[in-house]
Amino acid sequence: MKVGIVGGGIGGLATAVGLQRTGVDVTVVERSERPAVSGSGISLFGNGLAALAALGMGDAAREIGAVAGELGVTTPAGQRRPDGRWLVRLPRAATETVAVVHRADLQRILLAALAPGTVRTGRAVRGVSADGRSVEVDDTIETFDVVVAADGIRSRIRAGRPGDPGVRYAGYVAWRGVTDRPVDVSSGSGETVGRGLRFGIAPLADGRVYWFAVVSQPRDAPVPDGPAIVARQFAGWHPPIRELIESTPPESIHGLPIEELAGRLPTYRRGRCVLLGDAAHAMTPNLGQGGNQALEDAATLVALLSRPAGPAGIDAALAEYDRLRRPRTQRIARQAGILGRVLQAHGPVVSRLRDAGLRLTPPGAAARSALAVQRWAPPAPARPVVNGGAR
Ligand SMILES: Cc1cc2nc3c(=O)[nH]c(=O)nc-3n(C[C@H](O)[C@H](O)[C@H](O)COP(=O)(O)OP(=O)(O)OC[C@H]3O[C@@H](n4cnc5c(N)ncnc54)[C@H](O)[C@@H]3O)c2cc1C
Repeated sequence: MKVGIVGGGIGGLATAVGLQRTGVDVTVVERSERPAVSGSGISLFGNGLAALAALGMGDAAREIGAVAGELGVTTPAGQRRPDGRWLVRLPRAATETVAVVHRADLQRILLAALAPGTVRTGRAVRGVSADGRSVEVDDTIETFDVVVAADGIRSRIRAGRPGDPGVRYAGYVAWRGVTDRPVDVSSGSGETVGRGLRFGIAPLADGRVYWFAVVSQPRDAPVPDGPAIVARQFAGWHPPIRELIESTPPESIHGLPIEELAGRLPTYRRGRCVLLGDAAHAMTPNLGQGGNQALEDAATLVALLSRPAGPAGIDAALAEYDRLRRPRTQRIARQAGILGRVLQAHGPVVSRLRDAGLRLTPPGAAARSALAVQRWAPPAPARPVVNGGAR
């Protein structure tokens, strides 16, 4: 079977790794000359880590960032007020399955697991045929048994389909950074919420810290890169927020308007082409699930395509992929959007109500909801995926 994957982000590369390990002939077409990685972190939860393990990447993922539980992390986590007082503290069970990794490391291990020449960079896909099998790459047409559109939130392939809801601005901007040295965050990790402002702290396994700063603002307000605006917005917030910003290379701090799909797609499949990752279900990052869901998509598709082949078998696998993935990812996207509206509350009354609600949340209930989204297992593959190192 020949599979063409459009886009070499987390979703596309993870799918390529899994398919190649089950013996499928895979080509990834990536628009950038060098697949871009923003210099920030990403939280992998139990579900994303289970997907990586199902793709044969369990050992490699462990090398770039063990889960908090295995590291013996005892840092309290939850939500705080800008003065540092806790609104809600999560029990350890809710955070010990999280691994915070550097995005560049995740991309590196995925690329290293692929046979040389699998990813063709600097080639843009312009569209896909109605039967979903042929893609127009620059000026040539290439035909596959299956095409996976993993071309991100502004997916060109999704835009060419009926029912594309387009993209909408969520009302806030996020700046992200990773410190270039260890910073002591033993006083707490998680999020600190203010009025239309939120600061997140997520320690990496090696002591460096991934942080994000979220600011509600109109769509057309400027989003300058660099630390100045973040330092100004979060001036006076509890330690070590200022130290985290000052310990991050200024040129690596980038702001990004947060966007999501403006509605739900009626299907992730058209003929032999399926949408995967942000192309299918771009969501706001409030649950830290966009990348984790892309990994779940990848592990699901790989398992289903490893079942009996032949044209009918492939069609059945793609229909099953849509049936399994659409309801879950669309539900999580909706939850993430709602959570963002609550956490970014900026009116004085609404934000006070939010804080009261957080204070009254029993930690057990907060833990159950944090863990519920992570409860996921891939479908059983017909052919085993080899859990190995680089090829
Ligand atoms: C502030 C922020 C914080 C986040 N934090 C987390 C987190 O902690 N945990 C988490 O799980 N998720 C998180 N996410 C979400 C996560 O980053 C995305 O869901 C994930 O990167 C999506 O991966 P993808 O492969 O689907 O798409 P992308 O990473 O966007 O990759 C798409 C690729 O396709 C390529 N491409 C596009 N068009 C074409 C074309 N026409 N031809 C060829 N190639 C093309 C692009 O160049 C790109 O390389 C966060 C997102 C944001 C914005």
